[in-house]
Amino acid sequence: MKKMQLTKRILINFIHLFFPRLCLLCRTPLIQEEKHICLDCLCDLPLTNFHTNENNPVFQLLTGKVDIVSATAWLHYEKGAKVQRLVHSFKYYNNKNIAYQLGRQMGLSLHSYIINQKIDCLIPVPLHKKRRRQRGYNQSEWICKGLASVIHIPVCTNGLQRKTASDTQTKKSLYARWTNVQQLFVLNDKQDLEGKHILLIDDVVTSGSTLGMCVKTLQEVSGIKISILALAAA
Ligand SMILES: [Zn+2]
Repeated sequence: MKKMQLTKRILINFIHLFFPRLCLLCRTPLIQEEKHICLDCLCDLPLTNFHTNENNPVFQLLTGKVDIVSATAWLHYEKGAKVQRLVHSFKYYNNKNIAYQLGRQMGLSLHSYIINQKIDCLIPVPLHKKRRRQRGYNQSEWICKGLASVIHIPVCTNGLQRKTASDTQTKKSLYARWTNVQQLFVLNDKQDLEGKHILLIDDVVTSGSTLGMCVKTLQEVSGIKISILALAAA
């Protein structure tokens, strides 16, 4: 068995010699331990440090509209910049492993912040069935899986589901967006979430309307506490 693993490793190294894996952001060849993004680019990602400020911009987006314990986003999302390229890569180019790796990095970066909140389970913002079929996966679920691999908190994907498509959402005003998504989510198993502290995971938070409606739906559960963590904030 060990001999087979060694042979496989030698073969992989041999392939990489002629077809080096490149960093998604700077295109320099990756070393064996690096996955998708080189260490230099990882260290250079624009951290928000929002988690150090309870009343940060993501929390402000939602507080007063819905009842949440905390809310934060790990990275700054700017058009044409690195984080947008990473997000596009897992949203439009079938790179769910990027979402997983970024989830892991976020988990390493915010480890004590998340652990201190005593979270019982992670819930990804659900994708509409049609969109999920087109993409083949829910990117927020893969961020969750990456996160869970370092913080060891279970991921719950059965409870919260999306009802109808929100394809026209981006064309609507902010107010219309809040009302438009009101009927978007449905909760299957309320009992399972009773009394738990949920960490709701999203990829990019913009208006906060989708997250807000997820929270409203989750609040049908008695004794539930809800916090929010997004990979990035626009
Ligand atoms: Zn790089």
